[in-house]
Parts: sequence; structure tokens; C-alpha cells
Amino acid sequence: MVDTVPRIRLNDGAEIPQLGLGVFQVPQDEVAEVVRYALQCGYRSIDTAAGYQNEEGVGEAIASSGLPREEIYVTTKLANTDHGYDAALRAFEVSRQKLGLTYVDLYLIHWPMPERDLYVETWRAFEKLKDDGLARSIGVSNFLIPHLEKLLAESEVVPTVNQIEVHPALQQRELREYCWDHDIVPEAYSPLARGEVLQHPVITEMAARHGKTPAQVVLRWHIQEGHIVIPKSTTPSRIKENFEIFDFELSEEDMTLFESLDSGARTGLDPAVTNE
Ligand code: NDP
Repeated sequence: MVDTVPRIRLNDGAEIPQLGLGVFQVPQDEVAEVVRYALQCGYRSIDTAAGYQNEEGVGEAIASSGLPREEIYVTTKLANTDHGYDAALRAFEVSRQKLGLTYVDLYLIHWPMPERDLYVETWRAFEKLKDDGLARSIGVSNFLIPHLEKLLAESEVVPTVNQIEVHPALQQRELREYCWDHDIVPEAYSPLARGEVLQHPVITEMAARHGKTPAQVVLRWHIQEGHIVIPKSTTPSRIKENFEIFDFELSEEDMTLFESLDSGARTGLDPAVTNE
């Protein structure tokens, strides 16, 4: 079952499972059970963040899973309050301790915080964490093209991924194209638009035609778009459902139908604005 999830090769040679579980807004006292169940279903990639305040529970689930550490891909993210070289190094250590891990697979700058203008300095700390082997891969999240342009112009290491909001209603074609062109893999967060796209008639019709659920059809669209995808659910039946997307394929016509759903509607915050 585990082998059904394709791996994507990053620009530093590491490989990440194309499908993972997101745990935003999963309370600390529930997250261990949710992650343990996902690991049983076959998920091997978990996306958390310092800001989600559930890293300890994620670590607890990994430790008690019985799986070798190297089989589980763990992403966490730097909180917005910890930008800056020294602050980022300190914050990473806190996250690592909470997760109970010797290394993290992927460490992301959660938001660029453009008005603070510290993300290049923060990235220097990320480069050190990578050099020291503490973060196997480093990347960014919520970076728009101008933020990426500045980072690429002023640093050595190219981010491996850019985790951004992508779903049928916000397809971000220009930003994703920019990422691919610069060897940065797009990673789709809020891939189901937090459930908001699941009743759309184009999607419900396609789901019925394939004998799949709307969520499965949307997640399959992400897979066929070629980027990484990290749906969140705390509902066991949905965690399982969201994993069962490798036994069918959308046609070219189906993929084209998705294009008409792009309304540019965000469900989350705007990365152009500094937010805390
Ligand atoms: P999603 O698009 O993954 O949607 C989650 C919502 O959809 C939940 O309410 C969940 O309900 C519901 N859902 C999940 N599966 C199904 C299904 N099969 N059928 C119907 N409803 C379903 O939104 P998120 O915003 O949580 O994004 C996913 C992950 O992306 C986050 O957990 C986080 O890891 C990451 N993220 C990163 C951000 C960043 O700034 N880098 C910002 C936002 C998210 P229920 O849980 O009740 O089953």
C-alpha cells in the first residue's frame, strides 16, 4: 500500500512522498491518534508547523508507530515570530525537541513576512541547518514570485519546495510555473479548499462518473498536476478515503474541465501581507 504513493525528487536529491497528511488545527491531544491512524493507512509524510502547536503529538505518534524513522517524512515550519538568523536556529531546536527527532526531513519558512524583510537572513540559518544535517531539506511556504526572486538573487541554496494554497478554485498557474522553472516543487496546501469546492457540479459529476468521491477526484487532479499535496482530516474514514486515489486516472478532458473552476478565490491569508 505504501508503495502506491509516488515520490518526487527534490533539487537536493532527496525524495518526498507526493501525498501527505496535514495537521493544521488538529489539537495537541488528538493529533497523535490521527497521525497513528494515517500511518496505519499507509501515509508516510506528515506536515506540521511550530504554529500548529501540535509537534509533540506528531512526535509521539511517530515514536509509537513501530516504523523506522527513515520511513516517515516529517515537515515542520518556522513560526512568523522567529524570523532572523539566531531566532530561527533557536526555534528549529525547539521544534526538533518537541518532535523528539534527531533530524527533520523538511523545514520551511512558514510565511515570507515581507514588511519585516528578514527572510533572506532567516534563510542563512536554514542553509546552516541543512549543512549540519539537522534539516535534510529546506524550503519555503507562501512565497510569491517577488519573494522568490529576491531569495534566489541573494542566496546560494535554492528552496526545494514552495508550499502554497492550491486547489481547483485557486490554481496559481503562474506561481506554480515559476516554481517548476526554478527547480522548486510546488506543494499544495488547503488542497480541498477546506471542503468548499466539493459540492461544485463539475466535481460531483466527475466523481460519480469515476465511482469516486469529490475529494478523491480533487486530490487526483493534484496528483496529475504533478505537485505535492497534503490534505488534512481528523475523520478516520476521510483519512483513508483521501489515500485511495492511486487506482484511477482522470482523462485529459477531465483535467481540462478543472481549468474552468479557477476563480482565484483564496480560503486562507494573503502572503503579500505580513501577518502574525
Ligand atoms: P484542506 O483543504 O485539506 O481541507 C480540510 C477540511 O476538509 C477539513 O475540514 C476536513 O474535515 C475536510 N475534509 C478532508 N477530507 C475530506 C473528505 N474526503 N471529504 C470531505 N471533507 C473532507 O485544508 P487545510 O487548510 O487543512 O490544508 C491542509 C494542510 O495544509 C494543513 O493541515 C496544513 O498542514 C497545510 N497548510 C499550510 C498552510 C501554510 O501556510 N503553509 C496554510 C494552511 C494549511 P475533517 O477534518 O473534519 O474530516
